Amino acid sequence: MIAMDLPTAFFIAGLLYLALPLTVWLILRDQGYVSNSLWCVGGLAFGCALILFGMRNQWQDILTYELANGLLLLAPLLRSAALRHELHRPFKLIWIGLATVGFIAVYVFFHAVMEKETLRFSFAAFMIAAAFLWLSSLARDIGLRERSISAKWIHAFYLALSVGLALRGVFVLSGHDEPTAIGQDTLSNVLIILGVLSAIVGNVGFLGIFIERMNQRALESAKEQARLEESSRLSDQIAQMDRRRSVGEIAASLAHELSQPLTNIYLITDRMDLELKQRNDTSLDKYFSDLNRNAQIAGDILGRIRNFIRSKNTTFERIEIAQAISDVKALIHDLTWNESFDVQVSLPTQTLTVRADIVQLSQIFLNVIRNAIQATQGQTKRQLHIRVWREGDTAYISFTDNGPGLAPEASHQAGNAFFTTKPDGLGVGLSISKSIALLHDGSLSIGNSPGGGAVVQLQLPALD
Ligand code: ADP
Repeated sequence: MIAMDLPTAFFIAGLLYLALPLTVWLILRDQGYVSNSLWCVGGLAFGCALILFGMRNQWQDILTYELANGLLLLAPLLRSAALRHELHRPFKLIWIGLATVGFIAVYVFFHAVMEKETLRFSFAAFMIAAAFLWLSSLARDIGLRERSISAKWIHAFYLALSVGLALRGVFVLSGHDEPTAIGQDTLSNVLIILGVLSAIVGNVGFLGIFIERMNQRALESAKEQARLEESSRLSDQIAQMDRRRSVGEIAASLAHELSQPLTNIYLITDRMDLELKQRNDTSLDKYFSDLNRNAQIAGDILGRIRNFIRSKNTTFERIEIAQAISDVKALIHDLTWNESFDVQVSLPTQTLTVRADIVQLSQIFLNVIRNAIQATQGQTKRQLHIRVWREGDTAYISFTDNGPGLAPEASHQAGNAFFTTKPDGLGVGLSISKSIALLHDGSLSIGNSPGGGAVVQLQLPALD
């Protein structure tokens, strides 16, 4: 048996219940004003109730019985309303007021009219236990939703208090205990200790929920910052690669286009040289050999340019297509931040990986998506559907937009270097994408989808 002067203990617990909620309210006054205030008033009500219990036999019964028990019920109800508010399921305070008034009415009936002490006590114990149970279950909801340790502590303590109170009600009803809140039995002592502890745990826990949230927000903003930095790094790399590739593609095409006339010049000079030799005319020999040598030098330079362009730095690694798409989606968010452009992604159930250079693969995605963004301008609802699937050893990624589709002249030429139907277009995006796909042992095709709009399909060898 714990030796304790229960009225004094109630009084101390009451003071604690007054001081702690006020402190918490002051700390949290800038956050969650409604729930913070409800939690604080609930705590004050509980504190007043405990002080009234402590004054039993000294003050009038109406204060130390009816009002004390009414406040004891009101306290967990108000705190439950605070947690409901935090769970975005606000509760009308009028119901709490009506419940408390109804409770006091029944209590008066048992106490003053029927003078049934056992019924009065057990009724109050069960009702208040039910209110604590509600409070505890709401704390559990917050604990699960926010993975909050503090809320779980609140849940555990109020649950214990609820069970203790209900047991006390059962003991009193079955005649094993005295129907008084300041009884000297073990359970009464345990309950008062639980009451004091729940004053501390309840208030510190409520504060803890907000602190945990602040920590969570700080963590999320740090993650977001890291994601943005990563995304802007990738975006810079792609932009740089874009510029280099555009210049490279132009140079490669020039090299290709010039090599034909150069070969012709070479052949023509050879032939002229031969014809003049047949006529025994050697006067132009020196010029022909100069011409030949220079054509040879030009040919070598073009060859070297082509070799240089072919040997690009490529870092192949295992890439999860879903991850690469999600990274690029974050980038296009910046391109379309002020416009509505809906990107829907359908992924296979199993993870699909390819061997690719992430920057180059992202560059294909970005080129294709950029075209879709431009093509869908003017549509009321702009959409792009990215579909990923696997067939045998091949990974497929298709991009279908709801734009007007390929212009008639584009259906055969889109993807050829320098073909463009845009006034400010360069016409290198798709051809770069095609050469990247080839470099990855894949292919890229563009056409019209049966439902309207253009569809670009990328195929790459899938990894196991
Ligand atoms: P650019 O965008 O500079 O024109 P691209 O090589 O990316 O160069 O595209 C070549 C052409 O292919 C475009 O000018 C356009 O005519 C056509 N095209 C590409 N994507 C689409 C699309 N999603 N819808 C309609 N036409 C497209």
